[in-house]
Amino acid sequence: MNLVNFRFETDADGVALLTWDMPGRSMNVITLDVMSELEQVIDAVVADATIKGCVVTSGKDNFSGGADLTMLEGFSRQFADLAARDGEEKAMQAFFDGTRKLSQLYRKLETCGKPWAAAINGVCVGGAFELALACHYRVASDSDKTRVGLPEIKIGLFPGAGGSQRVSRLMQTGDALQMMFKGDQLKGAVAQKMGLVNEVAPAGDIVAKAKAWIVGGGSAVAPWDRKDFRLPSGKVFSPAGMMTWPAANAIYRRETMDNYPAAKAILHAVYEGLQVPMDVALRIESRWFAHILRSKEAAAMIRSLFVSMGELNKGARRPAGEPAAKVKRLGVIGAGFMGASIAYVSANAGIEVVLIDRDQAAADKGKDVSRNLITGQINRGRATTADREALLSRIEATDDYGKLAGCDLVVEAVFEDRDVKATAIKKAEAAMGKDVIFASNTSTLPISSLAENFSRPADFIGIHFFSPVERMLLVEVIVGHKTGDKALAHALDFVRQIKKTPIVVNDTRGFYANRCVLNYIREGHLMLMEGVPAAMIENAGRMAGMPVGPLSLNDEVALDLAWKIVQATKKDLGADAIDPAQEKLLEELVVKGGRLGRKNGKGFYDYPEKGAKKLWPGLAALQPKHLDPDAIDVEELKDRLLVTQSVEAARTMEEGVVVDPREADVGSILGFGFAPFTGGTLSYIDGMGAKAFVALCEKLATRHGPRFAPPKLLVEMAARGETFYKRFAPKKAA
Ligand code: NAD
Repeated sequence: MNLVNFRFETDADGVALLTWDMPGRSMNVITLDVMSELEQVIDAVVADATIKGCVVTSGKDNFSGGADLTMLEGFSRQFADLAARDGEEKAMQAFFDGTRKLSQLYRKLETCGKPWAAAINGVCVGGAFELALACHYRVASDSDKTRVGLPEIKIGLFPGAGGSQRVSRLMQTGDALQMMFKGDQLKGAVAQKMGLVNEVAPAGDIVAKAKAWIVGGGSAVAPWDRKDFRLPSGKVFSPAGMMTWPAANAIYRRETMDNYPAAKAILHAVYEGLQVPMDVALRIESRWFAHILRSKEAAAMIRSLFVSMGELNKGARRPAGEPAAKVKRLGVIGAGFMGASIAYVSANAGIEVVLIDRDQAAADKGKDVSRNLITGQINRGRATTADREALLSRIEATDDYGKLAGCDLVVEAVFEDRDVKATAIKKAEAAMGKDVIFASNTSTLPISSLAENFSRPADFIGIHFFSPVERMLLVEVIVGHKTGDKALAHALDFVRQIKKTPIVVNDTRGFYANRCVLNYIREGHLMLMEGVPAAMIENAGRMAGMPVGPLSLNDEVALDLAWKIVQATKKDLGADAIDPAQEKLLEELVVKGGRLGRKNGKGFYDYPEKGAKKLWPGLAALQPKHLDPDAIDVEELKDRLLVTQSVEAARTMEEGVVVDPREADVGSILGFGFAPFTGGTLSYIDGMGAKAFVALCEKLATRHGPRFAPPKLLVEMAARGETFYKRFAPKKAA
């Protein structure tokens, strides 16, 4: 055997050990070479009568992250080439045959006649966990880092190498469906409880345990290939099945609004597959997999949420030639809502933090936020008390700006007030190192004007976090007019160090994410004032693919903030820049009604102390008229809610605020949950084509006003048949 990606050895008991350890990679992935080597090993194990069975494990910290997605993208490219040459039908056959090779390989392993066991340490997900599922026995390590699962749904796919069929034969149908719908990753002990792994042991013992199972006569026949096999939930057509399937359908609708074909394919594959023997079931799964792999949604999600996000995380927008910067000690000025959480995520990433506020008590209060957050993690079993001690020892709370002296990056998060910020910037500059970068977390003040308070404007930059900082993955890095490459490189390196995804945005009002999302909220306000029932607006938002409706979202970010933004816009840009209907609505709610959103328990919704929030019944009285719900076109409501965001994203590209479509797309999904199945704000436009999008904008502009008018850039792209990814072709990662 000529193995490059695996090591293969056999011990004195006749048990083979296959160690997956790809050279030059930190993580094992399934490639065509890996598949061909695995096939050779299966043949060798079968052919050698002295080998009793085989244990497969990893030589790295993790087992494997699954299939190489570029391999899957390769299949799609081949499809396009073949379809052009030999026609769709032949291309589809070749595509189906190609994309089911992994499934067939795993089935070959499962039915080869000799027992296989998987010894799993670290992350083992997607196609790699499907390999483990095809083995006859699974031992997982009890390490905190061990995770098994099938997260394919998160990039618009589903487990297509036997996973959907094997988990639904190992677990109750409802549990199996839920696990695949959510893409959950489970620790060893949880997976064992659910029946997905057979044994959990310390990392150092997993191979020995797996070998012992083979030596002890472990069976080479999978449960579902035995005559006496019974499905854990009974047959599909049975009273129990009739309890499961109608509910599963309803849950699918509620959770996906029918926007995710991969989730529907899971339902199909499991429902159809459970009624037939394994080989037929696998063929059914393969059919659905090929179908999904060719879907627009999978292509968009793989591109944005896997490829582009990976590239941005690796520093795709980092200026070349700037030496790598690592923050050892960070200064955070302002220990309030944002500063305290910035300190927490940084300390969590191993960085020492000096957390400064106006007085010691305020600084201590900020440090308490870290204590509370990590205690929450301990209560959920995700951290230990030792982790808490270590984390808190890294945060120094103080009112002494002098402590900034030893810091290699300073971030300010003081009040959103020009004068307060100016004072803080000047005091910081006097204390900090002369070559250290200063960053502001402002959400509304231009970075270029704040930089005037700093004697080195080239070293001044915006690092705009989103709340809650510990959960939100996106960070906008704001480049002012005079910001230099060193500041940009340092900011991007820092964002990477704290494991967030950065997008680079040029300095303008609202930056990028807030511009788009404020349009979403405004559209909800305007619909309400047109007479659309509030519940219908909220549902239209979720049906369009947004995580929450526009009114709920406004309640979360606070209605008084929306009111302040409307007032500031009116002051800075004039009365024409705002919509009077929106101003009126916010005035009624905030100024006259004192309704500020979730933070004071009353906004568009009421928030009773006990029970779920409910739309405030008083909203109807604020509506100048009431439309007949049956006469409202829900599809148009959905269009309006997405188009208003995408058209704004297109404007930011036209203005050069965002210059790379990957950043607009990834930023929109991570920053404000823009309908992930579309691939993001610009992929939404590319997906329907600029021409169709412009036509839709024009229709909406005629019916609802010039806010929908397509910018010149889009009109030009429509005329030329261009996409954003063609016109603004992203540069490859440095
Ligand atoms: P906050 O009021 O909760 O906290 C501000 C903190 O700064 C307070 O603890 C205050 O005591 C302290 N402070 C004020 N002057 C100071 C000084 N001279 N020196 C040291 N500390 C001082 O405000 P926040 O919501 O955390 O916002 C802080 C910044 O973050 C603002 O610029 C805001 O625009 C920005 N931001 C906020 C959000 C959000 O969701 N709240 C999101 C992104 C960015």
